[in-house]
Amino acid sequence: MASGLRNSFRCDPEKAFPLYQYLELELPKVWPDFYLGSKGLDEMGDDHGWTFPDKAEIWLREDVYDGLRTDRGRDRFTAAHELGHLVLHGCPLARSRRPSGELPLFRDSEWQADNFAGEFLMPVEVVRKFPDPWTLAAECVVSEQAASVRINELRRERFI
Ligand SMILES: [Zn+2]
Repeated sequence: MASGLRNSFRCDPEKAFPLYQYLELELPKVWPDFYLGSKGLDEMGDDHGWTFPDKAEIWLREDVYDGLRTDRGRDRFTAAHELGHLVLHGCPLARSRRPSGELPLFRDSEWQADNFAGEFLMPVEVVRKFPDPWTLAAECVVSEQAASVRINELRRERFI
């Protein structure tokens, strides 16, 4: 689903995905109800993002929104994670982490949103080309930590 959505937006495959431009300009053209907004720290507190799939809204905390706009890796990943909730999950505000052990990992909505974000920002073909966290992070404009998790995940699943 992540690669389908990514590929439906024509962009230079050699460059990092222009996530801010996509969410602010391109996605509303094909999905008029979609809205990306930001709210202050006073309202959102420790939460970096809120997603309301029933209203097609994503809200990012002000500093996270700024980070998305200025290509900060960690905030790009958060925005892609929220996009994952929006397209994968029907329940509103799919944010809270369930206590571990309650259900299989792949059924956990946080795990699913993280994996969506990983595939969306670091497609498997790109990871094959740059299978080290530093280069991958630079190429895809994500944090080295996110790049490292992605590489390990794909190695474990034997995709690379
Ligand atoms: Zn989440």
